[in-house]
Amino acid sequence: MMKRLLAFLLPMALACSCARTPQWTFHLPEGYLDEPDTIPVFWKTTTSEIADFLMNEVKIGKVELLGKSAGGRPVWGVGYGTPRQGSGTTTWSGASTIGDIAKFRGPDSDKKVMMIIAGVHGFELEPIVGTMNLLAVFETGCDLAGNPRPELVRLRDSLDRVYIVPLANPDGRDRVPIRMEKFRGSDPDAYHVHEYLNTGGIKDGELIGWPACKEYIPMDFSKVEFPGSYPNDNGVNIMHDDFFGHMQPETRILCDLVIREKPDLILNLHTGVSRNNYFTEVNRPCVGAYNPKLLAAWEDLYKYVHTALTLKGLKKTRDLEVETKVPAIHVGSGDINLTSVLSYCCGGICTTVEDGSHGYTGVYDDGTPVDHGPAVILESQLTVYEASMRFLLHSNGSAGWL
Ligand SMILES: [Zn+2]
Repeated sequence: MMKRLLAFLLPMALACSCARTPQWTFHLPEGYLDEPDTIPVFWKTTTSEIADFLMNEVKIGKVELLGKSAGGRPVWGVGYGTPRQGSGTTTWSGASTIGDIAKFRGPDSDKKVMMIIAGVHGFELEPIVGTMNLLAVFETGCDLAGNPRPELVRLRDSLDRVYIVPLANPDGRDRVPIRMEKFRGSDPDAYHVHEYLNTGGIKDGELIGWPACKEYIPMDFSKVEFPGSYPNDNGVNIMHDDFFGHMQPETRILCDLVIREKPDLILNLHTGVSRNNYFTEVNRPCVGAYNPKLLAAWEDLYKYVHTALTLKGLKKTRDLEVETKVPAIHVGSGDINLTSVLSYCCGGICTTVEDGSHGYTGVYDDGTPVDHGPAVILESQLTVYEASMRFLLHSNGSAGWL
């Protein structure tokens, strides 16, 4: 039997987001919370590191406390540029029916607004690292490793508004109390600890796993060894919230924010690509299947991002035709999640973007491990943001594609 080393506490609310008891203690298998000997200076991922940076380093952007999680933790946002002013005369549903988004967005409808959301799954650290570095670029011109990123600054200034939520699920993040996973290689089972920390474990390290974790929403924390980082403290994975019923506070925060900001483009950033194609990818949004104009615009976005990644050697091949071929609609992947709901909130494109984990890596077809270290992760993340901003600028936003 495995020796259990670590126990820690977290507040848990049941049924209602305002309840805070009882306390839970989780015992993880030995070594699962090991950290590497050295952690790069640009790797800022904890709730305290995020709060400290937002409070002390953000001077150009406007930091907002958007609300509190189910566990009472702050959810922060940072806005750059000027928000849309005024309001429209109808809902997005009404405006979409008459084919005029300005009737929903108001007199500033033509402004180009982008939103980037990380940490919906709290221990998917790569997007948190990416957005924290993007904030550093917007504040200083350099990422947290000291690399100048003038094109990102230029694009920020070319768009009317960029809004960043660096950690949407702080409950899930605090449940995994380490800054960085130890790297566990490229063997077929190297993913195990990463998967455990995210999707949770049943007993003695046995995975709940993906997509099985989606069978338990809300998850009963008393029935598992460890709930992972997906759920908030109410046990809810907000990617699959009860959207038309009792919505979780984090979901409400994001929907309210999106309705207020009315972005043209929203990136919902995650960690999770397949071992045999271990490179950052833009996922097809389900909402696009029902709106041909939005789908066509999303396909352009896909090509912008995948072209940029390919040209930097951040895809499996250097073949642009292969890497920018838009994937077919995947029937059976579900037609509602947070990504589609946020799109329905505002009429913009919302797309999920997946990265590989820093905790293990995948392989090329010949079995060679993919180099997916922290520096590659940072470059992949910032490349996605830069290409997406360029797409939004060149496409002229929803005004250009709806
Ligand atoms: Zn995720």
